[in-house]
Amino acid sequence: MKFSEIIGQETVKQRLIKSVAENRVSHAQLFLGPEGSGKLAMAIAYAQYINCRQRTETDSCGVCPSCLKYSKLIHPDLHFLYPINKTREVDKEPMSIDFLPQWREFLISNNYYVSLQDWYETIGIEKKQGLINADDANYVIKALGLKSYEAEYKVIVIWMVEKLFHAAAPKLLKNIEEPAEKTVFFLVSENPDTIPQTILSRTQLVKLTRTSDESIATYIENTFQLGSGSTSSIALVADGNVKSAIDMARLEAEKLLVEGDVPSSKKQDPDKERFELFREWMRRCWIITDRSIVLKEYQLLLATINSIISDGSREKQKDFLAYGLKMLRSCLHYNLGNRQLVKHTAYEMEFIANFSRYIHTNNIQSFEEEFNKAVFHIERNVAGNLIFTDLSHIVARLLKIAPPAQR
Ligand SMILES: [Zn+2]
Repeated sequence: MKFSEIIGQETVKQRLIKSVAENRVSHAQLFLGPEGSGKLAMAIAYAQYINCRQRTETDSCGVCPSCLKYSKLIHPDLHFLYPINKTREVDKEPMSIDFLPQWREFLISNNYYVSLQDWYETIGIEKKQGLINADDANYVIKALGLKSYEAEYKVIVIWMVEKLFHAAAPKLLKNIEEPAEKTVFFLVSENPDTIPQTILSRTQLVKLTRTSDESIATYIENTFQLGSGSTSSIALVADGNVKSAIDMARLEAEKLLVEGDVPSSKKQDPDKERFELFREWMRRCWIITDRSIVLKEYQLLLATINSIISDGSREKQKDFLAYGLKMLRSCLHYNLGNRQLVKHTAYEMEFIANFSRYIHTNNIQSFEEEFNKAVFHIERNVAGNLIFTDLSHIVARLLKIAPPAQR
């Protein structure tokens, strides 16, 4: 990981580079920042930089033996601690090192922009809590006692240090307080409130803020080439979180790929396409009403919104909303038993029969008002992704309104 591969965060990079030039690399540093800000990437880039044999004033070289080992995360003087738990494969006394191959692959395949939830899913402990346990800490401390193999600095990266189990803290603390020579601890966290005060007070803070929209847009455009419309809406909706921007861009890119595979003669008719998009949008809105909402589901909603607004045509967005409202009115008629008023294609009828239970006299008026309000905003040039994100939350709420009591 070179500094140049981290998106934005220039001030932090400069500060870290300066610390090396001035020979004052602090032996215990806490990389703190919101999800998707690149704090883990920054810690690893810094570690690579301080060990690079041919570093420049701006970055590590990327090609010396140390950098090459760092790029695969296989340097013998680079150690990791991260939250883990028992799994089917590791069913007793789990240690970070048991998961090292998965960890390396997880980081490298995600460009070092990762979330705790995704890690838990990767190793199959999403229903449990991950912990950094005392045995793990002991193991690392033992490794510190050994002479460094080949690096200038021995580096210990502790990812999500807030997951440090109580019993593990004192041992680590002792080493942070009286470190072996040329040994550095890079702690990474997004929730400093739960880190023991004793650890906080002994570390130097490296604070990352949300990544700027411009940096994210530039990166997404260069990496995924989705066109400026999709790119800027992804950057806007990602709200400084590089990880969710990448997730959204991947979905979008996959979709383009699939669409590209369909021979033009077999392309779906536009009416059915519009119907499928509407059905997907309603489902996504319905899912986010669930209290157990996870980020992934929300990102899927955002991806659907991106499809709705993808070509940036305001007329098409208005048409989509008019069509949606017509479908909802048909749902109401179907629900009320006026089925002769409901004239649709077979695939639309199938949806209406299932979905009509959520549309009734207690919410239809609000749907009409809100859809019309959205059309009004489209006509006044409000950005499509803002309109549809806002409307999705309203739809989610309206779908939860109880129908009138049966007589
Ligand atoms: Zn190098």
